[in-house]
Amino acid sequence: MAGIERVCISVNSVCNLKCTYCYFFLKPDHLPGPGALSCAEIGVILDNVQRYGRRPAADKPIKVNFVGSGEPLIHWREIRDAIKNLNSTIPDHSLRFYTVTNGLLLNDQVVGEMKALDLKPSVSLDGPEWMHDRTRLRHNGRGSHRAVMRGIAALRRAGVEIAINTTLNRDVINHLEAYFDFIEEAGFSKIIFDRLVDVPAEHSVSTAEFYRALQDIASIKERRRLDSVEIGNLEAYRRAIAGRPDRVCTMFGSTCGSGFHNIIYMQREVYPCGRMFGQQQWVLGRFDEPLELFPKRMAAKIGSAGCTGEAPEETAGPDCLIERLRDDYDGSERREFVGWFRGQSQLSGCRSD
Ligand code: SF4
Ligand code: SF4
Repeated sequence: MAGIERVCISVNSVCNLKCTYCYFFLKPDHLPGPGALSCAEIGVILDNVQRYGRRPAADKPIKVNFVGSGEPLIHWREIRDAIKNLNSTIPDHSLRFYTVTNGLLLNDQVVGEMKALDLKPSVSLDGPEWMHDRTRLRHNGRGSHRAVMRGIAALRRAGVEIAINTTLNRDVINHLEAYFDFIEEAGFSKIIFDRLVDVPAEHSVSTAEFYRALQDIASIKERRRLDSVEIGNLEAYRRAIAGRPDRVCTMFGSTCGSGFHNIIYMQREVYPCGRMFGQQQWVLGRFDEPLELFPKRMAAKIGSAGCTGEAPEETAGPDCLIERLRDDYDGSERREFVGWFRGQSQLSGCRSD
């Protein structure tokens, strides 16, 4: 598909958790500030996105994901009403809605409203209680695992398919077997691992560590025969190796599409990627401008080949733009992982049992 296929909307910069590794608390000055988007402003964005989704070159629905620099469900009413308005004024729009939430505000009512809007949530959860509660803390310093599991229970009662987002922090990386014990016990079937980036050294996970962890995860999944557990990152690499890269983000997918295939509204400013927030050279525009402008402005910044340029075959699509622009970038960890994973996929494709 030519053009933008995924739109993230960061509606606010407030959170009811205070995770120890969160850039929100580590670098609060780097965030848009307290002015959450209103229902009307979210409506303007959705209207622009749906118009863009109707252009002749569009060949699949655009995914709209409500995410943080904060907890989106703190402004659930604004999100809900903006989607409702869109559905009633333009019932034939083709947008698909998602959110990534920390789960604390999920209850039967919110889940019922999400279900009615066909908005698919994924919940941030970093493994079993002892692991999760080392980092994902409330403002009073207590853990949040039980509250998250209550939110997940509400999703289960409503029959909503549950995806979880796990931040690959050092505790998770160092205890992957315990992590997967929990996943099996709790019966989760869809996981996406997020990379920790742009955090101080004591929290950071290097590119090499990230790809090593992905390799360990693929091996554990294979050894435990977790065929019914989908690891979003591995599936993304599988599609990329097969020549169908997602062009989402290497943080939780396989390839980068910043500015050309995905954009993020950091409240009222538009960026190619949330990691570029606050850097004037990366601003693509304002929330009330038509989407057609943004890939053109991105091309003016980095050239029309940009993220979509010819990527070497062994990398299965373009690597993170931010990393490629670093002086010391060499991409070897990713190439090694892709080479290893390609070999594994061929082997498991031949498995006779
Ligand atoms: S839930 Fe997300 S936004 Fe909130 S503190 Fe944790 S990592 Fe940060
Ligand atoms: S620039 Fe990097 S962090 Fe941003 S969307 Fe691309 S892969 Fe993701």
